[in-house]
Amino acid sequence: MIEMKDVWKTYPNGVMALNGIDTYIEKGEFVYVVGPSGAGKSTFIKCMYREEKPTKGSILIQGTDLAKLRERNIPKVRRKIGVVFQDFKLLPKLTVFENVAFALEVIEESPRTIRKRVNEVLDLVKLRDKAKSFPDELSGGEQQRVSIARSIVNRPPVVIADEPTGNLDPETAWGIMDILQEINDRGATVVMATHNKDIVNTRKKRVIAIEGGRIVRDEQKGEYGYEV
Ligand code: ADP
Ligand code: ADP
Repeated sequence: MIEMKDVWKTYPNGVMALNGIDTYIEKGEFVYVVGPSGAGKSTFIKCMYREEKPTKGSILIQGTDLAKLRERNIPKVRRKIGVVFQDFKLLPKLTVFENVAFALEVIEESPRTIRKRVNEVLDLVKLRDKAKSFPDELSGGEQQRVSIARSIVNRPPVVIADEPTGNLDPETAWGIMDILQEINDRGATVVMATHNKDIVNTRKKRVIAIEGGRIVRDEQKGEYGYEV
């Protein structure tokens, strides 16, 4: 599903953020990416959805090599990957419905399909009743649920989340985890960078730990492994 082979990333300022990453993530896996601040977690994740291009190495998503991708083909591959951010990144002038519908409008789905699919995902995140609200009328947890709905409305096989619970209180964070679990149960591969020790140690999954741009640990049903 996702394969990284000898991936290196040096930023233009000379910072070496990834130093030879090799990993394979199978279809349907749920993976936590952990490590200290500055370890390279975000860079790892950004390379996975081609927000950053590796300096060297290859990243295969369902057989397509992201590193070799031409600019004009990036959108097509991005559609296979739902992305969830710590700070939600919703469009403030669009309603909840419109934020979620956006990705489907871009690919010119019919209005009927759009309505059906958006309502389906809003049901999944339990926000159907907020469809007409604007992001600033919602709590942080609700905004994150909208952003998750947006990330899966295209039915991507892979969902990538960069500290999705980072801005949320613990109780709200658990609600977000339930939704990500549901998406995983429906077959999506989920990769999630997190600093949430409680979640990692309670909902046991594969844990990939990154330090200094290298994978230093990769365990099934692993532990968070750092003090907070
Ligand atoms: P983490 O997500 O684990 O905190 P990052 O991937 O954000 O780590 O950062 C890894 C290293 O790369 C850090 O030293 C960081 O300062 C650096 N870095 C991240 N993004 C950029 C960028 N756009 N330009 C230059 N350096 C960056
Ligand atoms: P399909 O939904 O096309 O019949 P699957 O059920 O096998 O195919 O799901 C394929 C992908 O679609 C999954 O990885 C998942 O991300 C997404 N998906 C499936 N059902 C839903 C749904 N109701 N809401 C959001 N995403 C879904």
